[in-house]
Amino acid sequence: MTHNDSNSPTLADVAERYVKLVLAMGQHDASYVDAYYGPPAWQAAAVEQQQGLSDIKAAADEALALLAKEPCLRALNLRKQLQAVLAKVDMLQGARLDFDTQSARLYDAVSPHHSRAYYEELVTAIDVLLPGNGTVSERVNALRAQLVIPADRLRTVMDAAIRAGRERTLQYIALPEGEDFVLEFVTDKPWSGYNWYKGDYQSVIQINTDLPVYIDRAVDLGCHEAYPGHHVYNVLLERDLVRGKGWLEYCIYPLYSPQSLIAEGTANYGIELSFTDAERLAFEQQVLYPLAGLDPVLAPRYAQLNRLLAKLGYADNDIARQYLESSLSGEEALEWLVNVRLYPAEKSAQRLQFYDAMGAYVINYNLGQDMAKAYVERQGATRTAHWAAFRDLMSSPRVPSALLE
Ligand SMILES: [Zn+2]
Repeated sequence: MTHNDSNSPTLADVAERYVKLVLAMGQHDASYVDAYYGPPAWQAAAVEQQQGLSDIKAAADEALALLAKEPCLRALNLRKQLQAVLAKVDMLQGARLDFDTQSARLYDAVSPHHSRAYYEELVTAIDVLLPGNGTVSERVNALRAQLVIPADRLRTVMDAAIRAGRERTLQYIALPEGEDFVLEFVTDKPWSGYNWYKGDYQSVIQINTDLPVYIDRAVDLGCHEAYPGHHVYNVLLERDLVRGKGWLEYCIYPLYSPQSLIAEGTANYGIELSFTDAERLAFEQQVLYPLAGLDPVLAPRYAQLNRLLAKLGYADNDIARQYLESSLSGEEALEWLVNVRLYPAEKSAQRLQFYDAMGAYVINYNLGQDMAKAYVERQGATRTAHWAAFRDLMSSPRVPSALLE
């Protein structure tokens, strides 16, 4: 056997140090370790040792120094992930990073800034689509009110959406035998859906039912959390990198790290990769609306509305940035969320909680999606080529800034 650069003993050593550092960080912030399926003894040692932040910082610097002469993508990824550990140490030690510095240091990317006027122009198109009395927000919510999935049909609708995503994924990506997930409905969370990866090709997918779940969320959540999104991403990392190559750094997933931009970006891009607009409309109108007991006549207009609303996605970043940097008060941020981002009032309140809990993490969804899409679509012109590039991206150590190359 020969070892190429990606499998040097130094990289194996740094990978192990990195995993242990992330486990140590998990003792300082319960949300930090999103998934871990490495040696249980390492986890137990982290709990036992309760390594202090200054020690973690010194150990991360030492690991980074070892990487200095390693040029491969795997080393670059380890470097970025370790630098994100250092950023989080600084934050836990009280450093107040501005939004863009935080996103650059944690996620290896910075979102563009847009003014309110930029978004208001996009809102005008929605004003035209939904003429009538009241504010645009009120008109959007009046349409949405007719498109709530009834609670007693939610599981059936979600199952159908996830199954459709899985069928499409399997046409292009072979998955290991036995990969599976459990779907749960939960309340009292700042997010709308979550994938908890357990290792051994198993996920627990949770859907938050605090707020109404609208019919378009079925395909979105199904693709994002399950197929071809987070579940598939984690399965491929485990099969191809952890088991296939012995790259232990992938048996852990620190939430506040560049890996999240790749994870959220591919999960969101995976929606449009799985369903063209026409395919999605046909599937929703013919399958999901009837399963939910909703009027399929509403489907085309609602799909059109959602395509326009998607263009407002970056408003989340601009609102979060200004709110977290105190140039918008909580009340002002809520007003933007309702009238500019056009979220329902209750959803807007949930978003503020999300910003408070997650800081600059919001950029991973929309900027991550656009970066993943641009990268994948540069690799080829056909749908088959896009799926191949998507699969490769999800099982490679490519870092966010390298998506721009
Ligand atoms: Zn996600």
